[in-house]
Amino acid sequence: MDLGEKLSVLASSAKYDASCASSGSGAPTGNKRGQGFGANLPAGVCHSWTGDGRCVSLLKVLYSNVCRFDCAYCVNRASADTPRSAFTVDELVDLTCQFYHRNYIEGLFLSSGIFTDPDMVMEKLIAVAKKLRKEAGFGGYIHLKIIPGSGEKLIREAGLWADRLSANIELPTDKSLQTLAPQKSGKVILGAFEDVSRNSAENEEDRKKIRSAPVFAPAGQSTQLIVGASEEDDRTIIGLSGALYRKFSMRRVYYSAFIPVGVPGRGGISDPRLPDIPGPPLVREHRLYQADWLMRFYHFNPGEILEDTPYLDHHVDPKTAWALRHIDHFPMDLQRADYEELLRVPGIGATSARRILEVRRLRSLSFDGLRRLGVILKRARYFVTLGASYIDQPEDPKRIRRMLSDQDGAGLQLPLFDF
Ligand code: SF4
Repeated sequence: MDLGEKLSVLASSAKYDASCASSGSGAPTGNKRGQGFGANLPAGVCHSWTGDGRCVSLLKVLYSNVCRFDCAYCVNRASADTPRSAFTVDELVDLTCQFYHRNYIEGLFLSSGIFTDPDMVMEKLIAVAKKLRKEAGFGGYIHLKIIPGSGEKLIREAGLWADRLSANIELPTDKSLQTLAPQKSGKVILGAFEDVSRNSAENEEDRKKIRSAPVFAPAGQSTQLIVGASEEDDRTIIGLSGALYRKFSMRRVYYSAFIPVGVPGRGGISDPRLPDIPGPPLVREHRLYQADWLMRFYHFNPGEILEDTPYLDHHVDPKTAWALRHIDHFPMDLQRADYEELLRVPGIGATSARRILEVRRLRSLSFDGLRRLGVILKRARYFVTLGASYIDQPEDPKRIRRMLSDQDGAGLQLPLFDF
């Protein structure tokens, strides 16, 4: 297989990993004739957002798609009939540098199938990152996957070369892992999170004493959860994500709607252990991202997002759903509400809440002025007053739900991809 063919196979094998994923998009390429610019590649280059809002392009590939494991949901599982290949360390280093110099990419996202002992696979990924940094002088972004079962010493070394580390937890419970990925263990994956988290904390302490000490994975760690391949409800998933953020200082949990890999065009074979669904549960995935956003930026506890229902409402975003369940908290007087109260109002984000507090110190608020501060009045109108003035009354939650229902998942605006 020549390098171009390897790239095609190994980029395609990586595209279902949502840890940084716009590359799995099936959108058509360019204009109708396939010309022009704005190409949306089926695999290979993944566009991601950094914490400071920059969009970066990453070369997203596997080192090898040969895997000894047989995870039912994965296109690369041992029993799948798919072309197999592997890069060498030198090939990947050259490819990354060449793509970088041609301005195709700004970084590398590197994972691998478990083609041999986990330590040996991890050593290959580290060798690529190390050679890029030390020999090629590559200063771009590197995201390395942690191979489950690799030792802490290797994880520590990986963090010295990579900006971000991630290990995929994949399924929400051990029971589901045993059914769908019997060679994987929740304990081993959580152990990897723990190793990253501990090394990161130790590194921070070291750097307080020795400022020149090397930085360990400065962009932290992330993970991916597959949604819809197993029977767990949204409440279980949100509870797990909340625990991951709390215990392991996780930067992001990515939710990946289960793609039935037996569908024609997806490759592989179907597996009787997997649910028979017509397509990926994308609305559910979107609502989970919105719920995740509430935990990370709106100070919601996992238990508040879904109180006594197992699944998120598909028709309204989770913040609106919470407000409708707690309609007695509204209307909220925006002239008096504090920051935490403002964050609970549908249509008011963290930025608009801060702006409201700033403006309120100088002058009274007006409904027109609220629009200019970024408040989405289409949503907020049912939940707010300005002193004695109001636009609409929060009388009937059923009517408000009808007015705010959407099928497309809009409502709580958030960027889906950062890395
Ligand atoms: S370990 Fe499982 S999920 Fe990872 S590449 Fe192998 S089969 Fe796929």
